[in-house]
Amino acid sequence: MPETTVQTVSETKQITATCGCGKSFATTVKDGKQARMDCRACAFERIAEKRMDKVLNDIRLIGNLASSQYDYSQEHIDMLKTSLAEAIQVYVIDKFNKPVKSTRSGFTFKKEIDPSKLEQINQE
Ligand SMILES: [Zn+2]
Repeated sequence: MPETTVQTVSETKQITATCGCGKSFATTVKDGKQARMDCRACAFERIAEKRMDKVLNDIRLIGNLASSQYDYSQEHIDMLKTSLAEAIQVYVIDKFNKPVKSTRSGFTFKKEIDPSKLEQINQE
């Protein structure tokens, strides 16, 4: 009996979606699932708020170690403070100090997708 190979073809297409803030953004839809639900600025705010809540709460918990339930030295405190300051410098300040990606269009093999063209393609 000959074997039958069933091949599932997943369909990926580019679409232009509208964010809750009103901005249009390009995204892909794969197997009916949309990759991005919001524009890059809204995604930044949504993820940054979640991560900031988490890290600020964790920092507050470090402060709780000052309680009399624990024993610690000045060296312990200095190490905590130095490590936190270094982490903020290296992982936040230095990263955001990198030059902002230029929006000027120079030579590139990658073409920016014009959302109006995408709409035309999707309607065909
Ligand atoms: Zn948005």
